[in-house]
Amino acid sequence: MPIKWLEVSVRADLEAAEAISELFNGYGQGGAVIEQWPLTTDEGMAQSGGFVLVKAYLDADDLPKKDKLEQALWHMRQIYPFDEPAFKVLEDADWANAWRQDYTVQHIGSHVVIAPSWLEYQAQAEDVVITIDPGMAFGTGLHPSTRLCLVGLENTPLQGQSLLDVGTGSGVLAIYGAKQGAYPIVAVDTDEVAVKVARENAERNGVADRMQLATGSVIAGGYELAEDSAALWAGPFDVIAINILAEIIARLSPAVVSHLQPGGHVIAAGIIQDRESIVREAWAEAGLRVVQRLQDGDWVSLIGTK
Ligand code: SAH
Repeated sequence: MPIKWLEVSVRADLEAAEAISELFNGYGQGGAVIEQWPLTTDEGMAQSGGFVLVKAYLDADDLPKKDKLEQALWHMRQIYPFDEPAFKVLEDADWANAWRQDYTVQHIGSHVVIAPSWLEYQAQAEDVVITIDPGMAFGTGLHPSTRLCLVGLENTPLQGQSLLDVGTGSGVLAIYGAKQGAYPIVAVDTDEVAVKVARENAERNGVADRMQLATGSVIAGGYELAEDSAALWAGPFDVIAINILAEIIARLSPAVVSHLQPGGHVIAAGIIQDRESIVREAWAEAGLRVVQRLQDGDWVSLIGTK
């Protein structure tokens, strides 16, 4: 492991941020990190003027890589307007914990609280506390799309309802479901690191026995799983949460519909407003009807039923 890391950060709007993070995923150690500002409150997020910081961490001694990344960013800036990248050298110890400083207890919706596992949180009577260490997985609760899904789930009856979480990341949505009495719960993610992190978080929250986790995804009428996975509960499900990008939600629509109980609900987020129509069209074709829409800044969540 290198001793010194170079933090590259770019301040951008949401559309550019998506392209930049794709680029960073190819360069950085552990992929891109996206931070949405301001982090503080729902209101703060909703009042636009917010921006996104996309960060990647490179070996500080790998100057050819830094040059290549700078060139790639330069080319990208000819298409998307965004600020010049900022570079900062971090000692190794800082790097692993850099993001943790900005990650604090978050109140979402009416009663959801996401508490980082390394902080003490004194729960209030009404709180549904989810304790998370996201590690390298997505799902810190800082991102508006996670928050929109949690609000959608908060408005959906979950007690005794079956729940499928497609793209579970840190496991945050499945864990919330478990705490609200959903059962059985299945959570899948194509990223095996996310599945490991989700399992640890489920254990941390005392709900691991309520859910089945596996590396893979949904296909029409079943699952496509890593070879060593145990079989999963087949459904159909009362509630399906899917917080991935619009294109992927659209592509997975026939699979999602096939896993959904008639009258059940799909809570989808990760949709940038400009791409909402992609999801709506795919849903209409797959036989899903939109019953509710939520928005936070540029991010949209759609709730559908069949
Ligand atoms: N559910 C969490 C994490 C969402 S991030 C939350 O709401 O915060 C989206 C996750 O979907 C990532 O962990 C990514 O690895 C996973 N993913 C991407 N494409 C997928 C696919 N086709 N099937 C299943 N998971 C996928």
